[in-house]
Amino acid sequence: MTDLDLKERHSFNAEVSKILHLVIHSLYTNKDIFLRELISNSSDALDKLHYLSISKPDLLAEDSDLKITITTEKDKLIIQDSGIGMSREELQENLGTVACSGTQRFLQVLDKDAQKKMDLIGQFGVGFYSVFMVAKQVIVESRKADSDENGWIWTSDGVSDFVLEPAEARLPRGTKITIFLCAEEERYADRFKIEHIVQSYSNHIQFPIEYVNEKGEAEQLNSAAAIWTKPKGEITDKEHRDFFRSVAHVGGVPWMIMHNKSEGVLSYTTLLYIPSIRPFDLFHPDRKCSTKLYVKRVFITEDNVKVVPQYLRFLRGVVDSEDLSLNISRETLQHSAILTKIRESITKRTLDELAKRAEKDAEDYKKFWDNFGAVLREGLCEGMNTESREKLLGVCRFNSTEAGEDLVSLDQYIARMQSNQKAVYYLIGDSLDLVSKSPQLEGFVSRNVEVILLCDAVDNFWTNVVNEYKNISLKSVTASDIDFDEIGTQEDRKETKDDAEKPKEDELKDFLEHITKILGEKVSEVRVSKKLKDSPACLAMKEGGMDIRMERFLMEQKQLNRLSAKIFEINPNHPIWLKLLSRYKETGKSEEIAACTNLLFSQACIIEGENVPDVYEFAKYMSDALLRILT
Ligand code: ADP
Repeated sequence: MTDLDLKERHSFNAEVSKILHLVIHSLYTNKDIFLRELISNSSDALDKLHYLSISKPDLLAEDSDLKITITTEKDKLIIQDSGIGMSREELQENLGTVACSGTQRFLQVLDKDAQKKMDLIGQFGVGFYSVFMVAKQVIVESRKADSDENGWIWTSDGVSDFVLEPAEARLPRGTKITIFLCAEEERYADRFKIEHIVQSYSNHIQFPIEYVNEKGEAEQLNSAAAIWTKPKGEITDKEHRDFFRSVAHVGGVPWMIMHNKSEGVLSYTTLLYIPSIRPFDLFHPDRKCSTKLYVKRVFITEDNVKVVPQYLRFLRGVVDSEDLSLNISRETLQHSAILTKIRESITKRTLDELAKRAEKDAEDYKKFWDNFGAVLREGLCEGMNTESREKLLGVCRFNSTEAGEDLVSLDQYIARMQSNQKAVYYLIGDSLDLVSKSPQLEGFVSRNVEVILLCDAVDNFWTNVVNEYKNISLKSVTASDIDFDEIGTQEDRKETKDDAEKPKEDELKDFLEHITKILGEKVSEVRVSKKLKDSPACLAMKEGGMDIRMERFLMEQKQLNRLSAKIFEINPNHPIWLKLLSRYKETGKSEEIAACTNLLFSQACIIEGENVPDVYEFAKYMSDALLRILT
């Protein structure tokens, strides 16, 4: 077999072609970043080799120098690393397809927001392909660290295909990328341009980045110190921003920086950031956990081990432990007591810092809350002790009937509770707009009782797990056992009671029994509402029953076979019921009363997002009512 036979031509898969087209044809505002992406890949490759060499020191036998070397010729830029390298299959897979699920999603969002798409490139890890912004041809020569082969060569012009062929002579360990620059991009072959880019974006890279001139003289371009080992005050804003960019895979600047050195029982350093932009993959199950774990400056992992709890997954950065063993397997790590302690202390510190920040500047905190509040609330569903849960609840902020554009904390809510108010009230709905119009709120609003308004999917869950805060119960306004007569001052109560026009209780009793008969099995009970003021009726859940929305959610998930019959609460002071009551007193039971009752009940179901129990019956009553209006 000749060498030519081994030369394989492969087409890029459709997704790569799409990315390449985008990279080459879009006006990228800052082409410099291709070098940052390549250096970052080299740094990852060095990290991986460094980690493997702990258990297999032989891997470094031929060359123990872990570094990145850059050289240039007139129209050529060469970036070489002595890292882990890539096998033939890896070259084909990594540089020929879009295997990474993050990139898949990038493609999905791509068409939606053309403006932002270029910023997303770094975030989604289409890094390597950005080289085609400046290259007319790229040659990647690579030999995997533990391979007996000579290594493999990947060549492409970034248009439709790439060629893979074996190297004739044994390549050095690692990867060498030769970039043939487009005529108008030859400035990237200039040493000063390269130095500028390295210092701008890659100064924090832990491995030396050397520029080697024509005479073979090497000069280190970066400081190559792990940024988190520096004293706090010595890290500049710019260094933070660059490091954040490289670890976070999110645009923007850090919203919060937490740099801490713990010495004592456990020694470890954390440099963690909260982004100011919500990463796209925050809610994707296959998203990587983006806090990197280092042990004594050696990168260990960023995906298999949960260095921070799930609900703090927006944290980006590094944790570097002095106590963990470098030889520890990733599986053992997951259950390591040291890691558990570190995780607990990161959690505590993060919540403390959030509390301070919220206290200091509520408006600024709202930005964080809008981005990550829903993720943080996931934590409320996790098993934890009361102290931790209250800490977490303490940094939560909510919309409410009183807060207007602002958000309210539970502590603020409690401080402004009405006299005798025993619980924190909330209502869950689909959107803030809809939930704030719910009839369920009327009685609360008219008595100035604040209600927290929740409208995220996660709120259906945690409200079922968390029933109190600082010994005050949290209660849905859809519960039926809320006694308004207890809340507020004597004055307030008088105002709501003295009304001569209101029907008397004994008159109502018989009427309610009649209404109950009309609705039959559709309801568990019919009762007079204390909640309603302007609306004729609403649904309520039995005492101790599940929240209406939670019940529906469990139904959708097939965790429940049928919905429970609800309580139908009526507002007897509403003109419709007053008319129906007087009609009842005059004529006893009638078709009209049955029709109106059914329509009012269906209406209450619709408002609550429940199915109307019998749509045909509802349609018939509705048509009759319309006819009556028109005749
Ligand atoms: P990302 O780095 O975000 O995964 P890239 O397109 O930049 O995306 O790179 C794709 C993959 O190619 C990397 O994940 C890595 O496995 C491999 N790769 C790229 N450059 C190198 C390199 N210098 N050494 C070893 N592997 C590399």
